[in-house]
Amino acid sequence: MQDFDALIIGAGVSGLYQLHCLRALGLRTRVVERASDIGGTWYRNRYPGARFDSESYSYAYSFSPELLAEWNWSEHFAAQPETLRYLQHVAERFDLRRDIDFEREVVAAHYDDDDQIWEVAFADGGGARTRYLISAMGPFSSPTMPDIRGIENFAGEAHHTANWPHEPVSFAGKRVGVIGSGATAVQLIPEVAKTARHLTVFQRNPNWCAPLLNSPINDADQARIKADYDAILALCRESYTGFMHVSDRRNALDLSAEERDAVYEKLYNEPGFGIWMGNFRDVLVDEAANATLSEFVANKIRARVNDPVIAEKLIPRNHGFGTRRVPLETNYYETYNEPHVRLVDLNDTPIERITAHGIRTSAEQHDLDCIVYATGFNAVLGGFEHVEIRGRDGCTLKDKWANGPRTLLGLTVPGFPNLFTLVGPHNAATFCNMPRCIEQNVEWVTDLLRHMRDHGLAAVEASAVAEAEWTTHVHESAERMLLTKVDSWFTAINSNLPGRQDRHFLLYAAGLPTYRRKCDEQAESGYAGFTFS
Ligand code: NAP
Repeated sequence: MQDFDALIIGAGVSGLYQLHCLRALGLRTRVVERASDIGGTWYRNRYPGARFDSESYSYAYSFSPELLAEWNWSEHFAAQPETLRYLQHVAERFDLRRDIDFEREVVAAHYDDDDQIWEVAFADGGGARTRYLISAMGPFSSPTMPDIRGIENFAGEAHHTANWPHEPVSFAGKRVGVIGSGATAVQLIPEVAKTARHLTVFQRNPNWCAPLLNSPINDADQARIKADYDAILALCRESYTGFMHVSDRRNALDLSAEERDAVYEKLYNEPGFGIWMGNFRDVLVDEAANATLSEFVANKIRARVNDPVIAEKLIPRNHGFGTRRVPLETNYYETYNEPHVRLVDLNDTPIERITAHGIRTSAEQHDLDCIVYATGFNAVLGGFEHVEIRGRDGCTLKDKWANGPRTLLGLTVPGFPNLFTLVGPHNAATFCNMPRCIEQNVEWVTDLLRHMRDHGLAAVEASAVAEAEWTTHVHESAERMLLTKVDSWFTAINSNLPGRQDRHFLLYAAGLPTYRRKCDEQAESGYAGFTFS
C-alpha cells in the first residue's frame, strides 16, 4: 500500500495545477487518472467541432508568466487538439508526468478517523493511503446515455461525444443521426453535416445559441495579446464569471426598444459570450427584460433558417435566453438550410426505440449508419456519485447530497475531513471560465495545506454551522436568477438519471469576485469556519 500526503483524482486542468502547487509545498503528491493520458475533459471530448467557448488566452493558465509568453494560440477560440497539445506542453514543462498514474481509476475512498487518513481503493485492486484527498474529477466526467429501448441492438457505429474514439471517425457517405441539442451537439452538427450523406438531428428541447465568431490569431493579434495579458487577466478576475466580458450596468428595461436592440445587435456580432455575460444586468433576473433579449435572438434564428417551420422548432419555448448554458455556434442555424440535413422534433414524434438499423420515432423509421449521442453528463455530481466517498461517520457523499449538495465554499464538506472538491457543487468554478476559477480553487487549497503544515495540524473539517451558512448564501444569492427556475444541468436535472426529478441548484451564482472574497475571508480569519486537529 502506497502512502502519500496528497492524492489527487484526475489529471485535467485542475489536477495538473494542484499537483504543481502541492509539489512546490513539499508534499508527497500523486495524481491518479483513469484515462491513458492527461487532459481530462480535453482528452475525452475529441468529437469533431470541439473547441473553446472561452477566448483561448483567457483560458490559459496564468500562474507562470514564462508559460504565457511562450505559448502561441493559433485561434481566438482554439480547437480541442490544440488545447490538448497545450496541456501536454504544460505537463512536460513542469515535469508533471512522473507523479501521475494513468489508467488507474479510484472506485472508493474511506476516511479512517483514528489514523486521520483516507484509504483509497483502485479499480485494478490496488490501494493507497493519503492524508489529503483532492477531487479534480471535473464537472463533466460522467457522460450519460439516453434510456431508450433497444439501444444495445443498433448494428451500426455509435459514439457518445465524451467517449470519442482516438482513431478518426469518417462520416463520408454515411447516414448519421445525432441525439441532443446542447453545447456539444451545436458544435458537432455543422461538422458532421460537412461530409455526411445525410444527417438527422433528433431534438427534444432546443437551446438559445449565439455566434462564436472564431478567427485565426495573426501576428499583430499575437503581439497585442501578449502585451495585454495583465489587462486580460485583470478583466477576467473582476468579471462575474471569469470571462473577458463584463456585464452592462444598465437595465434593459430602462432603455427604449431601439436602444436595447442596438446593444443586442452589437453583442450578437461580437465573438464569444458577450451576449450572455456582457449583457444588461437585468436580463438574467427579470422575465420581462429577458423576454426582450429572447425575442431579439428568436428573430435572428428566423432570419438565418430558410424554412419558417424549422426556424420555429429551433426557438426555445420553455426557457429564456441565458437561463441554460448558451451554446456558441458556427453556422449551426445555416446547417438546417442544407438539403441533406433534417430536424426531427421529438416533442411531435418521440423516439420509440432504437433498432438494428436506426431510430424509430412514433412517425417513422430513420435508417442510419451511425448514431452520435450528444446526450450530456451527470454534471458536477457524477464524479462524486461514481466514487464511493465515505466520510468520518461512514456516510457516503452521495447519500449526504441526496437532497442537494451542502458544502463550505463548494470545496469542503463537514464529516469529510481533509477532502477538497475542486470545481465541486456550490463552488464558483461550476459557473465560470474554468481555469480562472480553478486557479483560485487550487491556490486556496494550497494555502490551507500550507497553514496546516506550518501549524502542525493533521486534519481540517468544515463546521456544520459554516456549511449551513454557506448553503443558505448559495441559495439566497441565486434566488432571483431565472436559471434556478429552469430544468438543466445547472439545476441537476437529467432525464437519463432515474430519480432526478427535483431541481437542486449546483452552481454558485454570486459571481467570482464575491466568491474569492468569501474564500479570502475564511483564510484571513484563520479559517473560522473550520475545525482543526
Ligand atoms: P447537455 O447540455 O446536457 O445536452 C444534452 C442534450 O441531449 C440535450 O439537448 C438533451 O435534451 C439531449 N438529451 C439527453 N437525453 C436525451 C434523450 N433521452 N432523448 C433525447 N434527447 C436527449 O450536454 P452537452 O451538450 O454535452 O453539454 C454539457 C456542458 O458541457 C455544457 O453545458 C457546457 O458547460 C460544457 N461544454 C462546454 C464546451 C466548451 O466550452 N467549448 C463545449 C461543449 C460542452 P433536453 O434538453 O431535452 O434534456
